[in-house]
Amino acid sequence: MSTYSVYVHIPYCKKKCRYCSFLSTTPDIKDIDAYIKAVSTEINLYKPFLSDREVKSVYIGGGTPSLLEPSHVEQLISGIRETFVVKEDVEITIETNPESVSAEKLKAMHTLGINRLSIGLQSFDDNVLKSLGRLHSADSSFSAIEKARNAGFKNINVDIIYGIPSQNIDRELKGIKDIHPEHVSFYYLTIEQGTPLYMDKIFRPLNDEAFEELYMLVHDEMIRNGYEHYEVSNFAKKGCQSIHNMNYWERGDYLGIGSGAHGFFKAGLPWIGMTAQARYENAYPPSVYISKLLDKPGNKRSEGIFPISRTEVLDKDAETLEYIFLSLRTWKHVDTALVKNRVLMKHLSDDGLINVQDNKLSLTVRGMCVMDGIVTELF
Ligand code: SF4
Repeated sequence: MSTYSVYVHIPYCKKKCRYCSFLSTTPDIKDIDAYIKAVSTEINLYKPFLSDREVKSVYIGGGTPSLLEPSHVEQLISGIRETFVVKEDVEITIETNPESVSAEKLKAMHTLGINRLSIGLQSFDDNVLKSLGRLHSADSSFSAIEKARNAGFKNINVDIIYGIPSQNIDRELKGIKDIHPEHVSFYYLTIEQGTPLYMDKIFRPLNDEAFEELYMLVHDEMIRNGYEHYEVSNFAKKGCQSIHNMNYWERGDYLGIGSGAHGFFKAGLPWIGMTAQARYENAYPPSVYISKLLDKPGNKRSEGIFPISRTEVLDKDAETLEYIFLSLRTWKHVDTALVKNRVLMKHLSDDGLINVQDNKLSLTVRGMCVMDGIVTELF
């Protein structure tokens, strides 16, 4: 049976972080109840369409899914298990923030079959956390990890943001060594227009040399500590690569459920009459999404209306460019026959940014720092 992944978006956070440009808003509890009912309704709409395929990973992301009560998470997981064919060894991840997880909640999540936890630690420095507008402290991060281990989680990812001018990267790397998670996502701070961080104009992005130096330092230290650098921003201990994220990077199919969620199917979206490979995006904000699925708060609509607000058909050129991008960011090679600018290929190879051998091109670690520019200019 062919496989696909399921992403469920929980678009709620207790308070907006100062750098955040993700789709999330602050809710009250009634909103969350209605939202979970709407998500359950949406899951059910897909029942007639995916019965010949198996779910290999489920990712409950956000927002802050750890704001949900265990009863909400139970509704989501049982809805997925009852509606879809789920692989026995399915990876089920939930995103959490240190301030919204208790020992009881983590135990309940583990009992529900969630076998991978992703914790948004971001930094081990209280001043950095404060400047980012995070609600937790470094101490609460250590305590969240301890509670997660006690609850039985053996596969934990932590997110760390780097590239903050006042940040001491050695402190972050030491923090990781102390908690030894199975997986680390290192995200470079991007200062998006419209965020409070952008508006204060205090933070400035690092220049190219400083960024490269930092990237190389993180790479070298993480390798020394036994991690594999398996994607431009991601590190994993042996056997702990994220199945869900690998599916995105290998252009696998995925169903996006929830307000603002995205999905992608190579054979199209037959549930809305599309047969070419396509992406879709669900309605946002949550109130609009809920109104498409529930008549009045709490009641399911009788007709099957998919809450999709936008679709995009991918032509051959878009598919090739995506394939190149995704292959290179996961250290795979692409055929040099795809390269349009041969002169530049020679320069980049001489500069040590790409490897070219036997008509195959791949990035070096330094090349990863400038991947966007390389792909845009070469292909
Ligand atoms: S927790 Fe994540 S999604 Fe929520 S406001 Fe902060 S950065 Fe945004």
